Amino acid sequence: VLVPARASETKPQTRPDVDSITAALDVIGDRWSVLILRAVFRGVTRFSAIRDDLGIASNLLTSRLNGLVEESVLERRPYCKRPLRYEYRLTDAGRDLSPVLISLMHWGDQHRQGGNAPTVLLHDDCGTPVRNATHCPECACEIDATAIRSEES
Ligand SMILES: [Zn+2]
Repeated sequence: VLVPARASETKPQTRPDVDSITAALDVIGDRWSVLILRAVFRGVTRFSAIRDDLGIASNLLTSRLNGLVEESVLERRPYCKRPLRYEYRLTDAGRDLSPVLISLMHWGDQHRQGGNAPTVLLHDDCGTPVRNATHCPECACEIDATAIRSEES
């Protein structure tokens, strides 16, 4: 089921044939793909862990992971040789989706949760809640996508 990433697996990264939102939705327009990315951002990176986290069928997860690797948003890395097992890591293009997911979450908090956030995101360095997707008001700095943690609120 799990096959290694190869250069030939990835698609060309430019899409002059469509507008940019269409091109982005071709990558993350699928609900499972967004939820998989949410899991990987939270540090859930192995096939079985993602499957259990999302309650997704294995065949669907395989298909979505292959798509995200093909789109160069995730990459496979071996974490065990016998048996050979892979984990999924964000590429630079994947990490650049952090503000998109955070904005989606904040929109859901405001417009679908009555302003009650079930989960809060914190800047890892200082523990300040992240409101803007990329900037910490306490540290007055840009926040790297890997320096955000989530907590139940
Ligand atoms: Zn901070």
